[in-house]
Amino acid sequence: MTYFVTGGAGFIGSAVARALIARSETVVVYDALTYAGSLTTLQVLKGQPNFHFVKGDIRDADLVGETLRAHQVTKIMHLAAESHVDRSISGPDAFIQTNLVGTASLLNAALAYYRSLTPELAQQFRFHHISTDEVFGDLGPSDPPFHEGTPYAPHSPYSASKAGSDFLVDAWHHTYGLPALITNCSNNYGPYQFPEKLIPRTLIRALQGLDILVFGKGENVRDWLHVEEHAEALILAVDQGHIGERYAIGGNEERTNNQVVAAICAALDELCPRMDGASYRKQITYVTDRAGHDRRYAISAQKIANELGWSPSVKFEDGIKSTVQWYLENENWWRSLWNETA
Ligand code: NAD
Repeated sequence: MTYFVTGGAGFIGSAVARALIARSETVVVYDALTYAGSLTTLQVLKGQPNFHFVKGDIRDADLVGETLRAHQVTKIMHLAAESHVDRSISGPDAFIQTNLVGTASLLNAALAYYRSLTPELAQQFRFHHISTDEVFGDLGPSDPPFHEGTPYAPHSPYSASKAGSDFLVDAWHHTYGLPALITNCSNNYGPYQFPEKLIPRTLIRALQGLDILVFGKGENVRDWLHVEEHAEALILAVDQGHIGERYAIGGNEERTNNQVVAAICAALDELCPRMDGASYRKQITYVTDRAGHDRRYAISAQKIANELGWSPSVKFEDGIKSTVQWYLENENWWRSLWNETA
């Protein structure tokens, strides 16, 4: 099998690439290296004979097609996206370009390639689109979690562009017979997450003695999944999932933003205490809420558990502690990215 991972220099894509190489699979990472992508996420794979990197934009259908043919790709895992909600509010155009135009262009290139395959390779070919639970809108405090049949109700430019890309994938499957499947996942955390996202931003600001910024009252709820567990679920889905199906993936670990920040502070207090002996919680500051901030996301991963035997096992507080430890040990990774973001 040869896996073509778009967005593989980003947070989740690089975890997928590392997990595939650990299984001795052949991987082609295809990534435009936007501000969110960095070859440093793939440093540990450099020089491995079954690892290949191609710098390219998913909107470049010629280069995508050429790369698919050159490497005889059997599985496309599509993670390339603009992924930061706050950026989608201040500048939605890039989200339309990559998430919608880019996904349509990739689908066209994938379909042309699929149609050129021998029957044996065509049998193995899959297009796996990686999406988010944010396409389902938000939940009240006691609503049941999202599932595969929840109607779409995206609210932010980010989630609307992802919802649109999901519909495009569905359409290419139903209309043209592209063997595609979709997964929708909750919030990820873990190593190599770009410093602008909540968890790394919080812990880096804490370490730098800056205010730890929390939107609104900090009561928004997200479900958290460790990125390495997500990568395992994605590989299982692309390898064993059924064509035309959708799988919801989550960590079954709902936390308010206040609880997330408290867990990070507790881990830092233990692993890297402040010089004055006070808790990092002292640095928490509440700021004006994000426009249109969804209250709660929660997702049921029952179908993937029943059909493919995947379920999450990392407890949030354990995962946060190991993530904090990773950032403490890998300042050389985040320092330059942080300087670019700040
Ligand atoms: P990320 O922002 O860390 O990485 C995105 C990668 O895509 C970067 O390497 C970037 O260079 C690349 N990219 C962007 N535009 C491109 C283009 N036009 N052509 C080629 N490459 C391009 O994102 P992430 O957090 O790793 O998310 C990966 C995917 O998973 C996204 O589709 C996202 O919607 C989805 N997702 C993310 C989360 C999460 O919590 N991070 C949760 C559920 C789903």
